[in-house]
Amino acid sequence: MAYVITERCIDELDGSCVSCCPVDCIYEGLRKRYINPDECIDCGACLPECPVDAIYAPNEAPDPVWEADNAAFFTQVLPGRDAPLGSPGGAEATGPAGADTPLAASWGGTGDAP
Ligand code: SF4
Ligand code: SF4
Repeated sequence: MAYVITERCIDELDGSCVSCCPVDCIYEGLRKRYINPDECIDCGACLPECPVDAIYAPNEAPDPVWEADNAAFFTQVLPGRDAPLGSPGGAEATGPAGADTPLAASWGGTGDAP
C-alpha cells in the first residue's frame, strides 16, 4: 500500500506536498497529482503539508477508488502518451504528464462523482 491523493487535489495543484517527499514520488497530472505506489516509502511527510487535506494514509481514504486511481496513473497509457509512466524514479525529472486518469479528467470538481 501507499499514501494516496484524492479528488480534493483536483484543480488545486499547489504542490506543497512535492517538496517534502524524500523520494520525489508525487507526480503531476493535468488537474491533480498522483503518488506512485511503487515508489512511496510510506513516510507520511506529505500528509500534513496539503492545505486541502487531499492526502490519506494507506487504507484511510474515504473513497477507496482513489487508491486504484493513483496506481492507474502509472500503469495505464494516459491520453496523448505511447506507454505507461511506470516507475520513472523521480517526479521532477519526469515533469508534468500533461494528462490525468479518466476518473480525474472527468471529475466534476464539486466533490460529486462524474
Ligand atoms: S508518504 Fe512519504 S514517500 Fe510517500 S508520497 Fe508522501 S512524502 Fe512521499
Ligand atoms: S499539497 Fe495537496 S492539493 Fe497540493 S498538490 Fe499536493 S495533494 Fe494536491
